[in-house]
Amino acid sequence: MPRDYYEVLGVPRDAGEAEIKKAFRGLARELHPDVNGHDPEAEAKFKEAAEAYEVLSDAERRRTYDSYGHEGLRSGGFDPRASNFGSIDDIFQAFFGGAQGFGFGGGPRGPMAGADIALAVEIELADVATGVRRELRYDAVGACEHCHGNGAEPGTPISTCERCGGAGQLRSVSQTPFGQMVRAVTCDVCHGDGKVAETPCEVCGGNGRTPGERVREVEIPAGIEAGQRLRVQGAGHAGEPGAPAGDLYVEVDVTPDERFQRDGTDLISVVSIPATEAMLGTAVTVPTLDGEQEIEVAAGTQPGHEEVLRGAGLPQLGGRKRGNQRVVFEVIVPTNLSEEQRETVERLDGSLSAENLEPQHGEGLFSRVRRAFG
Ligand SMILES: [Zn+2]
Ligand SMILES: [Zn+2]
Repeated sequence: MPRDYYEVLGVPRDAGEAEIKKAFRGLARELHPDVNGHDPEAEAKFKEAAEAYEVLSDAERRRTYDSYGHEGLRSGGFDPRASNFGSIDDIFQAFFGGAQGFGFGGGPRGPMAGADIALAVEIELADVATGVRRELRYDAVGACEHCHGNGAEPGTPISTCERCGGAGQLRSVSQTPFGQMVRAVTCDVCHGDGKVAETPCEVCGGNGRTPGERVREVEIPAGIEAGQRLRVQGAGHAGEPGAPAGDLYVEVDVTPDERFQRDGTDLISVVSIPATEAMLGTAVTVPTLDGEQEIEVAAGTQPGHEEVLRGAGLPQLGGRKRGNQRVVFEVIVPTNLSEEQRETVERLDGSLSAENLEPQHGEGLFSRVRRAFG
């Protein structure tokens, strides 16, 4: 539960507008992050004070807060935590004027981290079942091999930056209506590193990094879905000396396989058989991710019948146990009959009794339709 806003600003509940403003100014000067060397505790207190001020300085929001407390502000579609932090800069600007580049937690810029890289890789459905290793080749900025990333020509000295004395940052003092504000900015000579190569590396020009081809093997886990991204930490572009490398993101595409439809961890495939073979029974060969498999087809197999091949599906992401393959039977009714075929079928038709036409597998098409729409 956040602290009471009046308590935060140290003002009585009937404090006037001017008193609230004065109290916040005092706190802001005292707690401002740049004055406190970005001490996290002071920063948190500053945010708390800014939030309290934002609410209490707005007559309508103050009334809501007085009547319903913090909950009232939230339920009114206004979440102080979500909306206010973005505007602390605005408050600060209103109070102290033109505070450029003021931000929490950021402070002066140190050496920059390397940028991320995104790549796409396409795998087969069979790879999804087992997981697969892929060798990726891509261009990335890496540490310069000539200077090993320190930016100095080998054998030449690296000295402390004279401009900032090795601190990597400079203090900028500005006058505000409330006195001097001291802010730290990144040193423009060493770019935050604190050190300068006297003779810059001939290969990289002193920034310690060179572009080149990177080869990296990635493990694509079993069960991955098309469009999922893998993150390989630190495999992106190298950062400035002293800063971490970026990450590599690999988006995995799965080549559609016409033979199978993916349904979670199950695969669905369709096999077509002539109506006569459905009546008589037969054997069919169906494709699976592990090769072809023969299935016995019982006499009297109905259209839409499903045969389940246990363990022939896909695992869950990172898992081992595979789902099933469901083979759905499509029954083809012969067409373009010859005179002789027609006579044969007419003889069969004339001989059929109610016993031959019992719906099989406990459920006829009508009850399936009813179930689907009921
Ligand atoms: Zn170099
Ligand atoms: Zn410097």
